[in-house]
Amino acid sequence: MSASSYIGRFAPSPTGPLHFGSLVTALASYLDSRQHHGQWLVRIEDIDGTRCQPEHASHILQTLASYGLESDLPPVFQSDRLNLYQQQLERLHELDQLYPCNCTRAQLQTQAGLHPTRCDSHTRLPHSWRLACPANTFHLHDAIQGNLYLSLAEPANDPVLKRKDGYFSYQLAVVVDDHLQGVTHIVRGADLIDTTAQQLHLYQLLGWQAPTMTHLPLIMGSDGRKLSKQNHAKPIPMADLRVLRKALAYLKINVDEAAHSAKGILDAAIPQWSPQRLAPDKIELSPPDLASL
Ligand code: GLU
Repeated sequence: MSASSYIGRFAPSPTGPLHFGSLVTALASYLDSRQHHGQWLVRIEDIDGTRCQPEHASHILQTLASYGLESDLPPVFQSDRLNLYQQQLERLHELDQLYPCNCTRAQLQTQAGLHPTRCDSHTRLPHSWRLACPANTFHLHDAIQGNLYLSLAEPANDPVLKRKDGYFSYQLAVVVDDHLQGVTHIVRGADLIDTTAQQLHLYQLLGWQAPTMTHLPLIMGSDGRKLSKQNHAKPIPMADLRVLRKALAYLKINVDEAAHSAKGILDAAIPQWSPQRLAPDKIELSPPDLASL
């Protein structure tokens, strides 16, 4: 790959402040980009106006910057890009890949995924647009997880691309943005593996090249649950070099004590980054580690 063709990204949803697990993900995508002499972009995925808040977005950007993690281009906000998602939704509609639906996920589960009237008769009522997915399987080689065979599930899981309340979904927005921003490499948490087959299907339908995808092992709290905003993971402090070193240690990178700034630590970490060093299984965060963050 030539020096300039790599574009990586970190794409947080501002549903809460930056927590330790997100810092680890941001670092991994940053180090992968820098090791490939590529660009690193930050995109704020504030597509769901019911869950995202502008103050979380600015806190996330400030916290990242305090750790030396700044986007090479001004960060984009999905809430500014709704026309782009609408254009691609219309393309998919013209390709006859969408259907209107009124069912809730719970209803579909109790009906074994079957849409009783295929919902067509309800199109005058407010409805969502779902992507009709065939039962395909996608193969990808993930630098950490190894060979992944991901199947597109049957109708119960046909993803909603535009919600009844007018919001576009993560699945549509993430594919459109990664493509339009020229992203070539995605490094993100293993919790998103479940979304990957549908995203690969969208790339195929839209005639776009999918980026290389690498999924980091999940960071689990001592309660055995994923460290996430939903599980009340604590926000990290700004510019705390101890936290930065600890996050790098989860990526199996140890920078010697001579580095005294975030930038110095990151520069020393770049050559040490190696996704192959990470095990595909979950990383356990021990209780003392959690307590001290
Ligand atoms: N916005 C998603 C999140 O915060 C990440 C999307 C992605 O990396 O594909 O979980």
